[in-house]
Amino acid sequence: MSSYIVAIVGRPNVGKSTLYNRLLGARDAIVHDAPGVTRDRKYAETEWAGKRFTIIDTGGFVPQSEDVFERAIREQAEIAIQEADAIIFIVDALDGLTPLDVEIGHILRRSEKPIHLAVNKVDSAQREPMAAEFHALGLGDPIPIAALGGRQIGDFLDRLVKPVRKGTAREKKDPTLRIAIIGKPNVGKSSLVNALLGAPRNVVTPIPGTTRDPIDSTLKINDREVVLVDTAGLRKKSRVHESIEFYSTLRTLRAVERCNVAVVVLDASQGVDKQDVQIVEAAMERNRSTLLAVNKWDLVEKETNTARAYEKIIQKKLGLYDFLPTLFVSALTKQRVVKVVEAAEKIHAEQQRRIKTRHLNDILLPEIDKNPPKSSSPKEIKIKYVTQVKSDPPVFAFFCSEPTLVQESYRRYLENRIRAHFGFTGVPLRIILKKK
Ligand code: GDP
Repeated sequence: MSSYIVAIVGRPNVGKSTLYNRLLGARDAIVHDAPGVTRDRKYAETEWAGKRFTIIDTGGFVPQSEDVFERAIREQAEIAIQEADAIIFIVDALDGLTPLDVEIGHILRRSEKPIHLAVNKVDSAQREPMAAEFHALGLGDPIPIAALGGRQIGDFLDRLVKPVRKGTAREKKDPTLRIAIIGKPNVGKSSLVNALLGAPRNVVTPIPGTTRDPIDSTLKINDREVVLVDTAGLRKKSRVHESIEFYSTLRTLRAVERCNVAVVVLDASQGVDKQDVQIVEAAMERNRSTLLAVNKWDLVEKETNTARAYEKIIQKKLGLYDFLPTLFVSALTKQRVVKVVEAAEKIHAEQQRRIKTRHLNDILLPEIDKNPPKSSSPKEIKIKYVTQVKSDPPVFAFFCSEPTLVQESYRRYLENRIRAHFGFTGVPLRIILKKK
């Protein structure tokens, strides 16, 4: 599982976002090409030498106002050493060592995590000696790079990914359901976790001799064990940083990486905004099955069809991801909180389903015949055959004459047809088109 998260830290204008873009541009494989709803992203998953990691640019989180930015930068360095797996501390060779660099360095020195001290804007060999003065930060050897031109970036990435485990994501299949409860601050994540862990029927049984991750909680529901990932922080409630967007983004990414089903908590009294949508995207882009828990349902005045109307509004806001199952819950009254886990179990099972090739073809080919893909060129596109090449998460391959000519909208159509006939509620599906 790719749970390695690297944060780029540094004062303004040293080249944080240039380095961020460079590191993403340098990837030797495009990990995610799915069209998203929002594009102003401050983090992305990437890959170097077969190793996946997520990179997050703290610069995007710094408020523009002059009087708060120094404090914000210090805060972000603090959060990065607590929550990220590695840190890139970027400084500017042309400016030399500044007091704010020294201050950030001071915070980072307390970290036990790998710190990569990148001295940016070293565009040529002649400038390399400029890196030497940053030894004074006490963070090991400064690494001269040029984020803009790309000088020494390959070597830098080699160092960066050294501790990352190789291999495809989730190669070791773990049958345990691992649920991440994610969502914006104050939607009621902690309350939901506490309601679940506090319910008398959910006996938590630590198995002697097994080492469990202390940040997770184990829950027993209907005689089955379920893990709630990254709950320690949610339960503690000493969340100094909780309202800081950078912090909650990091927490979300980490929890998503470690789960196989994500529960996105929404606040019924607030509706759905862009931040909620981004959280759903974070889960969907990482191919995690997802359900929505609309919390604080006790606060909503209900008439007949209120839930259904509400669901429609949510689906509209979610656009591409309008197929996610939705539950209306109250952590306060505990209404339907156990249902959240039961629904997660259900979609976890869906995610592992395999549809027989014959069945797929019998159902889908006649529909494709009736509504074939339109070609923008004189060449006709003929889809001949479909098969499910993988489950958990499911991948479907459609073999056709001209795969490159098939439009995105048709791919969506195929996905919708699969959902209509075979379910896969809440499960992200990948559709690939292959040359016959
Ligand atoms: P978190 O930041 O997402 O973990 O949110 P909290 O669990 O700390 O909840 C934020 C606030 O919402 C607290 O004041 C809770 O008491 C309140 N809250 C949480 N769940 C519910 C609910 O189901 N109904 C109502 N009315 N309030 C809730």
